[in-house]
Amino acid sequence: MLRETGKLKIGLEIHVQLTNLRTKLFCPCPSDYRGKKPNENVCPICLGLPGTLPQVNKRAVESAIAVCLALGAKVQPYVVFSRKNYFYPDMNKNYQITQYDKAGGTTIGVGGYVTISLDGERKRIPLRRIQIEEDPGRLLHVEKNGVKKTYIDYNRAGIALVEIVTEPAIHQPKEARLVLEKVQTTLEHLGVLDPSFEGSMRCDANISYAGGARIEIKNISSFKEVEQALRFEQLRLEYLPKMESTVTKRWGEKEGITATSREKEMEEDYRYFPEPDIPPIIIEDKIIENIRRSLPELPDERIERFVREYGISERLASILVSEKPVADFFEKTVRILNDPEEVAYWLMNEVVRRWRELGIDYRNNKFKPEGLAKLIRMIKEGHITKRMAKQVLWEIVSTGEDAEEYVKRVGLKIIRKPEELVPVITSILDENPKLLKDAFKNERVIDYICGEVQKKLQGRADPTILRDEVKRLIGEKMSNA
Ligand SMILES: [Zn+2]
Repeated sequence: MLRETGKLKIGLEIHVQLTNLRTKLFCPCPSDYRGKKPNENVCPICLGLPGTLPQVNKRAVESAIAVCLALGAKVQPYVVFSRKNYFYPDMNKNYQITQYDKAGGTTIGVGGYVTISLDGERKRIPLRRIQIEEDPGRLLHVEKNGVKKTYIDYNRAGIALVEIVTEPAIHQPKEARLVLEKVQTTLEHLGVLDPSFEGSMRCDANISYAGGARIEIKNISSFKEVEQALRFEQLRLEYLPKMESTVTKRWGEKEGITATSREKEMEEDYRYFPEPDIPPIIIEDKIIENIRRSLPELPDERIERFVREYGISERLASILVSEKPVADFFEKTVRILNDPEEVAYWLMNEVVRRWRELGIDYRNNKFKPEGLAKLIRMIKEGHITKRMAKQVLWEIVSTGEDAEEYVKRVGLKIIRKPEELVPVITSILDENPKLLKDAFKNERVIDYICGEVQKKLQGRADPTILRDEVKRLIGEKMSNA
C-alpha cells in the first residue's frame, strides 16, 4: 500500500563553480586548484586570518548577473552578502560568505525558470533565487597502517560559486535530471562553466510528498546519481512508515543507497547576518543592460534555430543542445556535409554512444567533425556499408584516424562480386531449407537471409547487390525444385 498521497515535490540547490574566473571570490589566489599541491593556492584572506578583509571579484559578480539573465531571474539592484555561521574543519573562518534572502540580506537573483522538455512537452520549472557564495575547502580522509587521519586542503576555499535554487516544483526524478542538464548547458553556453572540471557542478536535492516528511540528499555530482538517489527516496517515502522529521542524507555513490548523515540544521542554526566586511553592492541598470547585450546565443534560442535552420524536430534539437559540445560538433559537421538529419542520426546514435561507452571526454577528444562528415560521405558514395561504418567508428572515435585511411589500412572492402556472395547465401539456404519456402510468401524472410549473410561477412556485402543475389538464387532454386 502506498502510504503517501498527493504530488511528489522535488527541489534542487545547484552549486556551480564559475570556472571562467582566474582568481577566487574574495582574494587574488589562483582558482585553478585541480592538480595542485595541497594548500598551494592560499593567502591570509582565504585562510580567514584575523585582520584581513575580503574584496569582491568584479568578474564573479558580472558572471552571476549573466547567469541570472540567462535563467530569466530578476537581478537585484542592491546586493548584500551574508554570513552563514557554522563550525566545520573545511570552513576555516567558521562562517561562509554567502547570500541570503532574509535577515537583512539579498541574493543577486530572484525568480527565473529553467525550461525542460519531457515526452515532447515543454515545461518551466520556476527558480526561487540565485546567489553568489564561496566554496569551502576539502577534507581528505586517509587510512594508513590502521590509523585514520584527516587532512585539510584549502586550495578550494574561497572559489566562487553560483547557487541556483529551484522551487520544489519538480514532480519526478527524471525531471530533476533534465533541469540539471539544462542548467549545465546554459552555463556552458554562457562561457562561465566548463563541466569537464571535476566537481564543478554539485547538487543538493530535497524530496517530499505534500504534507509529508522531507528528505534532503547532499552533494551529488553526477546527474545520473541525482536521479537514482531521488528514485530511491521516492520509494522509501511511498512504502515505509511515515517519517517524523526532515532528514539529511548522504548519497553513497558506490553503494547506490542513501545513508543518514545528520539531522538537518534549521536555518536559524546558521545565525545568518549581513557580512560586515563587505559593503553592499549597487548594481546599476546600465551594467545589467550591457551584460544583457553581450549574452551569447542560449540553449532555448539555439534549439529554435536548429529547428528553423536545419529542419530537424524540436525533440532532436533539444537533445543535441542539451550538451554544448554535441551541439557544436553537429553544427561543424553540417557545415562540411549539408545533411542535418543524417549527421544528427550518426552523431546521437553512434558517436555519442561510443564516447559514453569508451569514457571519452566530449569536450576534448581526437575524433573531429571532419571525420564524421567523411564517414557519412563514404557510406553515401558506396565505399562502405552502414554496418562497416559502425565497425570503423569504434576504432576511429578514440584514435581520430581518418576513416578512409583506416579502411585501406585494415583492408576493409565492400563485397560487390556476386561470385563472392553466392557461396555464403547458398550455405545459409542449405542449412535451413524452410527459408526457401517461406521466402516466397514473406518478403521479410529475404531481409532475414541478407542479415545472416552480413553477419558472416562482417557487414561488408553491398546491400543492394546482396538483395538482388538472394532473390535471384531463391528464384533459381524454386524453379529447379
Ligand atoms: Zn587567497
